[in-house]
Parts: sequence; C-alpha cells; structure tokens
Amino acid sequence: MFIDTHCHLTDEYEGGVDDVIKRANNANIGAIICATADPNDIKPALNIAKNHKNIFVTTGIHPDYINYNPNEYLTDEILNNPLVIGVGEIGLDYHYNPQTRTQQIELFEKQLNIAYKHNLPVAIHTREAEEDTANILTDKYNGVMHCFTSSWNLAKTMLDRGFYFSASGILTFKNSESIRETFAKIPNDRIVIETDAPYCAPIPYRGKTCEPAMVIETAKVLAQIKNLQIEDLETILFENTQRLYSKCHVKL
Ligand SMILES: [Zn+2]
Repeated sequence: MFIDTHCHLTDEYEGGVDDVIKRANNANIGAIICATADPNDIKPALNIAKNHKNIFVTTGIHPDYINYNPNEYLTDEILNNPLVIGVGEIGLDYHYNPQTRTQQIELFEKQLNIAYKHNLPVAIHTREAEEDTANILTDKYNGVMHCFTSSWNLAKTMLDRGFYFSASGILTFKNSESIRETFAKIPNDRIVIETDAPYCAPIPYRGKTCEPAMVIETAKVLAQIKNLQIEDLETILFENTQRLYSKCHVKL
C-alpha cells in the first residue's frame, strides 16, 4: 500500500470525508496522515482518525496562525494519544507574511520544544525562509520537510541532520524540473510522499480538489525519477514512513 503522509481532512471536506477515504483505500492508499495547520482542526482530525482504519494525525499550528498559544492546543493529553504521531505542520512562511517573522519564529520554536519533549517527529512547512529554517531546525530534532520545494542547498543541510523529504503533487508539474532534480539526488531511504490535499492536485488532476487517492500520481513520477518499479518504490516508501513516524502502526 501507499501512504499519503500529509493532507488536511476535516469533517467538511468537499465530497464527504468517508467517500474520500474509501476512494483512497480503493486506489491502494491504505493509510493517511492528517496534518493540522489551523489548531481548530485538531479535534475534527482526531475524530476522523478515531472512526476510520489507518488514519493518523500530526498536530501543529501553521505560521499563518501566530495568535494561537501552542500550549493550549498541543497538550500532553493530545500528544500522548496513540493516533497522534507527530507535530506539524509547523514552520516559517515569509511568502505571504514576511512582516510576522518574529512571531512566526517564536511559535515555531515553542512547538519544536514541545515535539522534543514528547520525542515526536516534526512536519515542517518552509517557504522563502531557508536561512531561518536552517538556523532553527538543528539536528536535535527529527522529522520531515513537508511538500519540499526549497533549494538543494537546504536539502543538503537537512539531509545531514537526518531529516526526510516529502514529495507532493508539485513534483508532477511541468515547470518543476528543479524539484525533480532535487528529489533525484535525495537518497531513496529519505523520501516519503503526500498530497497536501485539498491543495496542489497533481497532473492530470490540476485545478481539481486534491484528495489522498491522487498521491499515486506523485508516486509514478517519483518512480520514473528514481528508475524504480512502482512496486519497489511502494515498499521503500512504506518502510520510510514507518521509520519516520514510529507511532504510525499501520494495520495490514
Ligand atoms: Zn499542509
């Protein structure tokens, strides 16, 4: 099976979350990891995970939500839940909000400390913030650079620190040649895949609402880049995901 390691499912998901999960399962996507960006999505995501097989959650507050206090949302009770397998998505985004840099860094560091205390991997969002990301995200932490589209330079730095890299639908886009080159150079045992649904639907679904079933299109392109049979890639990605998220106990 393939695992969509990062998407945003809520009860209000377009098309109905039950059907979306069913379509994913029918397409050999046997497990799904729901990430939260808006802290108000944590409870709905946990509900979905509780009521379906092989749905897991990473809980975090995205840099768009600087006015929330992580201590109120990333509580011991939440993080000790067996279905909560990581902290994310967290990070820095200077593309839309460069003016909140200081608050973003503060929020990011607080959540990194929480993840460290709970010995949980982190799912990192970084956009136009490479230097601060590299300075803050030391090898004290472990986790994944989600929807990775940054430079080879940042990839190299984070590879040396033991991080994983997640390829999204952007890998399939025509103008993503440099991202494909980056993933070609990242060792096979450091890669996972995701949709980041409902965003970034891969080719041939561009413009549609993205959903976990579509992660297979990213897998196909990755198999080409890596010159692997899709079945071999499937095994590698499954093992990588289990190594990255040790609480992700997938039922076969
Ligand atoms: Zn996301």
